[in-house]
Amino acid sequence: MLTRAPASCPHDDASPRHDWTPREATALYQLPFNDLLFRAASVHRACFDPNKVQKSRLLSIKTGGCAEDCGYCSQSAHHPSGLKASKLMEVERVLSEARKAKAGGATRYCMGAAWREPKARDMDAIVAMVEGVKAMGMETCMTLGMLTDEDIGRLKHAGLDYYNHNIDTSERYYSEIIKTRTFADRLDTLARVREAGMKVCSGGIVGMGETADDRVDMLVTLANLEEHPESVPINMLIAIPGTPLENTTPIDPIEFVRTIAVARIMMPRSFVRLSAGRTEMTDELQALCFFAGANSIFVGDTLLTADNPGEDKDAALFRRLGIEGLESEHDRHTTGHAQGEEAPAGRSGCNGHARSA
Ligand code: SF4
Repeated sequence: MLTRAPASCPHDDASPRHDWTPREATALYQLPFNDLLFRAASVHRACFDPNKVQKSRLLSIKTGGCAEDCGYCSQSAHHPSGLKASKLMEVERVLSEARKAKAGGATRYCMGAAWREPKARDMDAIVAMVEGVKAMGMETCMTLGMLTDEDIGRLKHAGLDYYNHNIDTSERYYSEIIKTRTFADRLDTLARVREAGMKVCSGGIVGMGETADDRVDMLVTLANLEEHPESVPINMLIAIPGTPLENTTPIDPIEFVRTIAVARIMMPRSFVRLSAGRTEMTDELQALCFFAGANSIFVGDTLLTADNPGEDKDAALFRRLGIEGLESEHDRHTTGHAQGEEAPAGRSGCNGHARSA
C-alpha cells in the first residue's frame, strides 16, 4: 500500500497562485467530473501524502446566546433552536478535555466560543486555555469572532497557532445568510490576524441555497488572499430546526465533491478539511472527498453542538481506505518545496464560526 507520495512537487498546478479569476475557477468547477478529480488528486499527491489525514478535536468553550444572526447556526440568540446558552467554561475543565483529546490521538485542539467578539474580562481565561493546551504539546486553534488588535496581540503572545474565522460564502450571498456583520468585517479580522503572524483557518459552508457561482467566488476570495489559509474547512450545511435554513434543500453530493476538488487545486498546499456534515455523508462520499483532496477532519462525537461520526466509525473508515492519521507537521506533506517558495500551508484549525454545528 502506498503511504508516501513522491518526494517532490512536480505538478504544474502545485505552485500557489493568488490571481485566480472567477472565470478560471468556474472552468475548473465545470470540468467533467473525472477530469476534475484527476487534476485535484494529482495536485494532492504532488503536495501531500494522499493517504494521511490530519485529525483535530473541537470543543465549545462557550455555547449559545450569540449576538450574531448567522442563518445556519443553532447558537445564535436570534434563532429559536432550543439550545441552552452557557457561560465560558472553566480553564481546568477545558484542559481536562484537551488531555483526553490528546490521549485519543488529536494533534490539534480547537476551541470555539459563541461570541460576536470576546469581552476584555474573558481574555485572561482564553489566554490560560491556549497556554495550557500548548504545554501539553498540541497545536492550538481558537474561534472567538471578531478581535481587537489588543486581543490579537494577547493571543499571539500566548502562542496561539491558528485562528479560525470563516468567510462562510460568497460576498454576493453573504447578506442572505448573515445581517449582523459584513463580508468586509470578516476579511478585516483575517488580515489583522495574518499580519500578527498567526496561521489562518478559513473556509465556508455549502448547501445553504447558494449557487455554484457563489461557491466558486468564495474559493476565489480565499485563494486570492495574500497568503492562502493554512486550513480551509469546507462544511456541508446541517439544517438545524429553528434556524432560518432548516428547510434548505441539501446540496447534490457531487457538487460538494466538486467544491472540495476546486479548493484543493486553487490552494494546493492548504489542508482542506472535510468539516461539518459528515454524519449525513456516506462512507463512499467521504472517500470521494479524500480522493478529491480533503485531508483533514474533526474527530470526536460532537463538533461545537452538532453530531460528528464517532472515532470508532472514523477508524473503521480509515482502515477500509488505508488512510492513516497525520502524526505531526513533519509527516504532513511531500518534501521538495524549494527554498524561497511560498511556505507550505500549515494545518487545519478549528471550524468554529463557520459551521452549521
Ligand atoms: S456561527 Fe459563530 S458568530 Fe455566527 S451565530 Fe454561530 S456562534 Fe455566533
